Amino acid sequence: MTIAHHLGFPRIGANRQLKWALERYWQGQITQAELYEQGMQIRTENYTQQIKAGLDFLSVGDFSWYDHVLDMSFLLGVIPERFQSPSPDIDTYFRMARGRAPQGEDTFASEMTKWFDTNYHYIVPELSEQQLFTMTHHKLFDEIKEAKSFNKKIKPCIIGPVTYLYLSKVKNPNFNKLSLLKKLQETYLEILTKCREEGIEWVQIEEPILVLELDPAWQKAIKETYDFLQVKDLKLLLTTYFGSLGQNIKLASTLPTAGLHIDAIRGQDQLSEIINLIPQNKILSVGIVDGRNIWRTDLRKALAILKPLHAKIGERLWIGSSCSLLHSPVDLNNETVLEADIKNWLAFAVQKLHEIATLAKAFNEEEASIATELTASDAIVVAKSESTRIHHPLVKKRLKDITSDMTQRKNPYSLRKIIQNSALNLPIFPTTTIGSFPQTQAIRSLRKDLKSGKIDEENYEYEIKKQIAYAIQQQLELDLDVLVHGEAERNDMVEYFGEQLAGFAFTQNGWVQSYGSRCVKPPIIYGDVFREKPMTVKWITYAQTLTTKLVKGMLTGPMTILCWSFVRDDQPREVTAKQIALALRDEVIDLAKNGIKVIQIDEPAFREGLPLKKIYWQDYLQEAVLAFRLTSSGIPDHVQIHTHMCYSEFNDIIEAIANLDADVITIETSRSQMELLKAFETFHYPNDIGPGVYDIHSPCIPTVDEIVALIEKATQFIPITQLWINPDCGLKTREWRETRLALQNMVNAAKMLREKQGVIATEKVR
Ligand code: GLN
Ligand code: ZN
Repeated sequence: MTIAHHLGFPRIGANRQLKWALERYWQGQITQAELYEQGMQIRTENYTQQIKAGLDFLSVGDFSWYDHVLDMSFLLGVIPERFQSPSPDIDTYFRMARGRAPQGEDTFASEMTKWFDTNYHYIVPELSEQQLFTMTHHKLFDEIKEAKSFNKKIKPCIIGPVTYLYLSKVKNPNFNKLSLLKKLQETYLEILTKCREEGIEWVQIEEPILVLELDPAWQKAIKETYDFLQVKDLKLLLTTYFGSLGQNIKLASTLPTAGLHIDAIRGQDQLSEIINLIPQNKILSVGIVDGRNIWRTDLRKALAILKPLHAKIGERLWIGSSCSLLHSPVDLNNETVLEADIKNWLAFAVQKLHEIATLAKAFNEEEASIATELTASDAIVVAKSESTRIHHPLVKKRLKDITSDMTQRKNPYSLRKIIQNSALNLPIFPTTTIGSFPQTQAIRSLRKDLKSGKIDEENYEYEIKKQIAYAIQQQLELDLDVLVHGEAERNDMVEYFGEQLAGFAFTQNGWVQSYGSRCVKPPIIYGDVFREKPMTVKWITYAQTLTTKLVKGMLTGPMTILCWSFVRDDQPREVTAKQIALALRDEVIDLAKNGIKVIQIDEPAFREGLPLKKIYWQDYLQEAVLAFRLTSSGIPDHVQIHTHMCYSEFNDIIEAIANLDADVITIETSRSQMELLKAFETFHYPNDIGPGVYDIHSPCIPTVDEIVALIEKATQFIPITQLWINPDCGLKTREWRETRLALQNMVNAAKMLREKQGVIATEKVR
């Protein structure tokens, strides 16, 4: 028998039931019993789908109330002191995740961070130097019992001990976490033993860190751990995903586990090596159905990859998803307005289960048994490759015609700065904001009303313009130097552009969990991207007519659009990046032609796109820089390009950031007290920079003195003539009242500093 399995199913429910139930529970609108009931319904639905598709195992333990890493912490009894209670329960769990729950005192939540290179966020385990581990919570075992009633084989999935430790945090940076491994192994052994007592045969134990470049100490930890974790009659499927095993290939293949799962989507190149390395009696599970993207599997191609493997190891070959399906939307059948041909090209989690089962069937029966599925798959491959919706010769030609001068401003920054100083006429310490102003209920209602047909386009435009005028008026009163239109017309910084660019499709229900009850609905880039008409010019130029001060145009950059979308798998990412860049370039040029002299291209996801393995960083950074420069270089030198990135770790990519050659970069720094700027002691950043002077995520109003102190700190690292004054990020989540107060203090701080410098604000010194 060739086994068909998957690594985990989305837990949000086909209609985001989990989200709604959680939020109601947190607000005290439903009881704990009602919440549990909802969870059970979701799991039942998920198991039913797995049975219907004909998979060999039900995955158990993939359901989570918030996050599966937090579940692991709970199972291991890792509950930091501030959350302790005599009997930790689901409210303790929620307080760890979000600082508050219906029961118990509010306290600050555990840190949350991105799960490898996905957009899923996990709760970082907090360990103490004396950390003890005790098998505590029984959720996993309750779910095992529950799943048994479905009369199918069960495969629990848990995060492995070494990955768990690797991703955890101990306060003291000099403490060696690995010293906790022994104790951790003991508790894992208990958990596994209990699984065996429950009659479990296979456990999926996940060690995704094996796709990273591990140092010898961590490699050794893996080896020791799996030598130790031996439970009689229990088989471990050591599970890796998100990349190839690289230098860990031998280690992973030869560990004493009964099986190994590898990601054959991201790590197809390792298959031939692994098939030779894998010991005689070991199972090799090949993740051939992409858990992270939404394209239908080319079944014939997948079969062609699997056949030689099967010829070599026969039934020791298992067929699975590349990673957990958690990263896919739930069910394509929920899409009722997606155009038929595009819909045909897609597979969400439910459809992926069927693909896995179909591929296994080809080996369990014979290839002819899946003839219908193969023919359908072939037809789609052909239709897709020929589709005029996807392929646009003009876009391809334009890409070919890119020349090096298209990625180069006319003059170097030192010269541009002189030109811009006289064109823009700004004081020292110029003040600006990052783009968005409060997205009020009124603004959101406008969009809803437009969608439902309650108001027409013309009406909508009129109302949005009123919002823009309001934002401009406010900024004039605040006396900011470079104004923005406020982004009232944007629902989301990627969706807004995707909706106007050719090559993008949008689902109604393609939600993917980001964290807890938060889901995102990434656009789908299915075809060649180009701009059909200007996207922002109307709004920005309108804003500019309202004032003689400068209004900054606002665009989302190519890498951010790419990172926050489902991307094509029929061409390299960098090709798609360039297409987006060219489309945005058109917009930049149009803005400039229409008299806009300052244009910001946001790249908050620039760092997020970094590959998991450092060896690929340079390639990525090169592509990312190229895409940005392609977007930003088609304009005369007097036009000033800004970019914005919202994170504070960029020491390791600072050269690439300098290479963007943006005239001004605004970044997050206030929470780290300008710590980030230390990088500038050794690296001379040549262009202008606006280190955020207050944290927009906090409702607190920064005082003038606090802001002055931060800016003065910044002047220790950056020459005054290079400094801009701005908040950390956009203001869309704030209210107008607090926005006004904070910005007033920011402007006053800038004015104070100018006076201190003995220069009058209006004098041209820059
Ligand atoms: N211009 C965007 C805004 O102000 C930037 C958002 C972001 O950095 N994530 O909202
Ligand atoms: Zn930001």
